Amino acid sequence: MTDPVKFKCASVIGVGLIGSSLARALREAGLVDEIVGVDRDADVIARAQKLGVIDRGETDLARGVKGADLIILSTPVGAIGAVADELASAVDDGALIVDVGSVKGVAVEAASRMPERVCFVPCHPVAGTEQSGPEAGFASLFHDRWCILTPCPRDDAAYKAAIDKAAALWSGVGAKVEIMTAEHHDLALAVTSHLPHLIAFTIVGAADDVESVAAGEIVKYSAGGFRDFTRIAASDPVMWRDVFLNNKEAVLEVLGRFSEELAVMQRAIRWDDGKTLEDAFSRVRGLRKAIVEAGQESAAPNFGRDNKGG
Ligand code: NAP
Repeated sequence: MTDPVKFKCASVIGVGLIGSSLARALREAGLVDEIVGVDRDADVIARAQKLGVIDRGETDLARGVKGADLIILSTPVGAIGAVADELASAVDDGALIVDVGSVKGVAVEAASRMPERVCFVPCHPVAGTEQSGPEAGFASLFHDRWCILTPCPRDDAAYKAAIDKAAALWSGVGAKVEIMTAEHHDLALAVTSHLPHLIAFTIVGAADDVESVAAGEIVKYSAGGFRDFTRIAASDPVMWRDVFLNNKEAVLEVLGRFSEELAVMQRAIRWDDGKTLEDAFSRVRGLRKAIVEAGQESAAPNFGRDNKGG
């Protein structure tokens, strides 16, 4: 159990699905007095302000983080390095920086480049939906979801205190906290999140290529399996482009293993090898049971329709 934290002013850089959800959650939990939205798009700021997600907004990064004791970096992964480098000279002494990016290697590199007066603790809340923008966010997004912290290798007292503070922040909005290395995170998430998204994008794209089918049958018969792939494949193209370009090594590793497994299935189907197919399907069925038992999914037959992405 971590001690509760309280921030005077949180600056949310990138007020989209995750940034606006965290802003809402912090406000609802009473963990922050003021929230400033920073986005390169003035329209996003205006919309977030109208929704009551932020108190005020800035398109200028330095102005937007002045006076903040918490900075939440919630841009797509590809922007994290450059924005963090700009923050190095712009943030107040003692401010805590966290990010929410789905790939952690790049965030740890950026955190390690920070001057000692700045504490950046890389974080990934494993929670999300296929939607984007401030309208899509909601305060309960992180309830009972995991948030993985991947601190950089710094052992000074200020950084240790910052890790505790970041853990308390996520606990305070209802998340369960785990700490691991960025390498471990990026490989694990390549298996559980990145590869499934790549497969979904590819399957939906392949079906769309078969034009005669796409004209009607995809929509008409979508209740069977395919519909869940279309939900995943509706995810933000920029966010996912950045995930794959920044977690290249791990994704290519698991993609290689997947291709080998797929070739085994292909061969079994070609040679009427029912035993191989049945054995393989039986083996993986147990994993679903384990996920349900761990509380990560409901046993009800509504897979994928209760906002448990990430
Ligand atoms: P989103 O809804 O598209 O929000 C991202 C926001 O950041 C957009 O308003 C975008 O503006 C803004 N932005 C982009 N570059 C910026 C910059 N240089 N400076 C300031 N603002 C900038 O995306 P999201 O789903 O919240 O994802 C945000 C982060 O959370 C990503 O790193 C993602 O990997 C991570 N994440 C996502 C999920 C999920 O399920 N979606 C789950 C866990 C973690 P423009 O629209 O103008 O580009």
